[in-house]
Amino acid sequence: MAIQRTFSIIKPDATARNLTGKINAVFEDAGLRIVGQRRIRMTDEQAKRFYAVHAERPFYGELVDFMTSGPVVVQVLEGENAVAKHREVMGATNPAEAAEGTVRKLYAQSIGENSVHGSDSEENAKIEIAQFFSEADIAG
Ligand code: ATP
Ligand code: MG
Repeated sequence: MAIQRTFSIIKPDATARNLTGKINAVFEDAGLRIVGQRRIRMTDEQAKRFYAVHAERPFYGELVDFMTSGPVVVQVLEGENAVAKHREVMGATNPAEAAEGTVRKLYAQSIGENSVHGSDSEENAKIEIAQFFSEADIAG
């Protein structure tokens, strides 16, 4: 498996509880390298565009409100099989179903306020990284 990059967001529920370092430790312990990282306040427009795939879902408005409710940390993670590895250590979307030791099992509060986002394919990772990072801000 070649070295891959994936896109990660530490969500507002986690930044509010000062969990950035603890979540980053889970990623780093899994062999993922943080090669780009920025703390931002997402605009309404950015959140709507980022989650446009869920526009028809009943929770879309709630999701956009949540993602703009506080600071987030946007990240580029790099490593062997990074997309799948990251999804594995994030755990299931619903923390009640997340495996022991995963970020969502450890820290998520609900299916909506679930602490982290991770790209679900290499193709989407490229699109999502480009939405928040220029190549000059990524150093592998
Ligand atoms: P993400 O895309 O954030 O990494 P995911 O891929 O595990 O999460 P998706 O199905 O893509 O899950 O849903 C995107 C996000 O929408 C979830 O992470 C969660 O914050 C929110 N969400 C999903 N399902 C629900 C729901 N039933 N009620 C409220 N919010 C939800
Ligand atoms: Mg998703």
